[in-house]
Amino acid sequence: MASNCAVIFIGPPGAGKGTQAKRLAHRLMVPHLSTGEMLRDHVTRSTSLGVLAKPLIEAGKLVSDEIVLRMVEERLMRPDSREGFVLDGFPRTMPQAQGLDTVLYRRGFEPPLVLDFHVDREMLFKRLAGRRTCSLGGETYNIYFQPPMREGICDFDGGALITRADDRSEVVAARQESFAQQTAPLIQYYTDRGLLERVDGLGSLDEVSGRILDVLKQRKIANDRL
Ligand code: AMP
Repeated sequence: MASNCAVIFIGPPGAGKGTQAKRLAHRLMVPHLSTGEMLRDHVTRSTSLGVLAKPLIEAGKLVSDEIVLRMVEERLMRPDSREGFVLDGFPRTMPQAQGLDTVLYRRGFEPPLVLDFHVDREMLFKRLAGRRTCSLGGETYNIYFQPPMREGICDFDGGALITRADDRSEVVAARQESFAQQTAPLIQYYTDRGLLERVDGLGSLDEVSGRILDVLKQRKIANDRL
């Protein structure tokens, strides 16, 4: 990205921000950093962090700010994120947002662009209940909107498609609650600083991507890559 800018995706569970964050990162040729994916990777590898995070993730609760911040900070030290990155699922609390400000400042980054996703409740449900994840590569699908070519099988590596443990309905409710309690206040924090743009998350993948690119163009972010 020309102006070495960070883009943050905020939105309730199921708003489609993960898919869109990946698409944008690909388009801008910068890393897509999902704290959920990083944590799930720790769980799969049974690292000490993974052992700690597993019960929290499975209950739809947040992992501690200190752990997540350290993980993100370490990731941002790698050279591939020097020109920019897309953050997905982070920050999720005020201390995380403030911690991120410090990290960005230290690394000489511009203030982030924050995209706030909006989707109605029925659509949120379909997006979560319909979501399937590849058990090998982590690729995501949706049985309603973006089905694989063969039912239950990943198009890329043939892995079995599974429902993530935290997409079960009772866990979804807990995740929605934690979004309302802890993440929603970030919207005000970033609005007050003029960094927030609201994005309508309804429509086809290409329509939503188009809206995101329009916001970047208007704000003259990464214009040379769009
Ligand atoms: P996600 O894939 O972003 O929906 O994240 C899945 C789960 O990982 C969340 O429900 C939390 O348990 C945990 N998690 C991901 N990102 C964070 C974060 N920034 N802070 C705390 N916990 C997180």
